[in-house]
Amino acid sequence: MNCYLHPHTPAVASCTDCSQPVCEVCLARVNGKPYCEHCAVNRHPQSPFWAGVFSFFVPGLGQFYNGDWAKGVAILLTGWLILPWLYGVIDAVVVAQAIAQGEREAATVPPGYLVLALKIGMLGFSCLYITLAWIGISFMLTAAGWSAAQP
Ligand SMILES: [Zn+2]
Ligand SMILES: [Zn+2]
Repeated sequence: MNCYLHPHTPAVASCTDCSQPVCEVCLARVNGKPYCEHCAVNRHPQSPFWAGVFSFFVPGLGQFYNGDWAKGVAILLTGWLILPWLYGVIDAVVVAQAIAQGEREAATVPPGYLVLALKIGMLGFSCLYITLAWIGISFMLTAAGWSAAQP
């Protein structure tokens, strides 16, 4: 089989998305998987750095970025207990590294524009999270009768 862009060059791999045969020149690897030049544009390499940053600011966000939705929700709900939050940061980095090296299948890697939106909105998300966690904690304290607001 020869490259679909270079009919005289033997193909070395076929694109993960469109399954067209590609030669050494046309081959683009993203997260350890072969893509043609056109499909590679729509894929973004998983970044362990950003996975860690996301999880640091908002517990569980790094897991959402990695496609670990169930784990992300669990950490999002328990992150204010500190320990799940710390676990989430480490887990996000380790999993993102595995995805970037092609060792682990990403369930749903978000498209590039979503990742860009996350990067821009991160501080807003963290404020939102702290506010929600604070409301949740004070609600629980009030419900337990430990409200500090009592004179
Ligand atoms: Zn392709
Ligand atoms: Zn080619």
